Amino acid sequence: MRAYVRINSVILLDRLSKSYGPSTALARVNLHIHPKEFVTVVGHSGAGKSTLIRLMIREEEPTSGKIIIGGIDYDNLKKRDVPQLRRKIGVVFQDFKLLPNRNIYENVAFALEITGTRPSVIQHTVPKVLQLVGLAGKEKNFPQELSGGERQRVAIARAVVRQPKILIADEPTGNLDPKHSWDIIELLLKINRYGTTVILTTHNRDIVNALQRRVVTLRNGRVVKDEERGSYDV
Ligand code: ADP
Repeated sequence: MRAYVRINSVILLDRLSKSYGPSTALARVNLHIHPKEFVTVVGHSGAGKSTLIRLMIREEEPTSGKIIIGGIDYDNLKKRDVPQLRRKIGVVFQDFKLLPNRNIYENVAFALEITGTRPSVIQHTVPKVLQLVGLAGKEKNFPQELSGGERQRVAIARAVVRQPKILIADEPTGNLDPKHSWDIIELLLKINRYGTTVILTTHNRDIVNALQRRVVTLRNGRVVKDEERGSYDV
């Protein structure tokens, strides 16, 4: 276990707890994540991974404890500040959540449109991001015309197009075969090398063990292990 507190954390969770009625989803979780770290969060189903993510993206509020992300203290967060927070944190889910009636270009551009980005900036930025994720040439395709791996690339492009400090990938390979899973992990590593802090949750033992990165293990809502070059041991 880490005994020290990291200075200059981009994510600081301090004694974070969340209960749903009588059931405790998270119990006094302490987690300090340094800028540019790549951290994998593992645990059985029901261990608290999704709750942790929902609290970090402010989809829900904790029962007690503190969250400071990217210098924003959630205790002082007003409803109107949440969009600004979402600009700092990109999120990718297992089921992609793409807009079926928009093509690939439009799906990614949409993330910029809703923040009022100038059209000239959008036209300049979207092709670069599609290039980054390896989807140049697929701009006019619709999500249903793509493979699962390609759809997840679109979701990642959409999550990083606003250049967030943090990318949270919640079971991003859950619907993918091993080959496509690895492609997605390599893309996350590339994004991490460019300076984005990455939080990954996964059930994939092979991926966790091969990554040789920091692994945080949750059990019954508690951090039971936090190792620098950790392995999958849920
Ligand atoms: P994981 O993502 O690791 O599978 P979750 O964060 O979804 O775990 O769940 C942690 C615990 O909290 C589980 O016992 C789950 O049943 C409970 N829980 C999660 N969300 C809710 C909710 N909205 N209402 C009641 N209980 C919940």
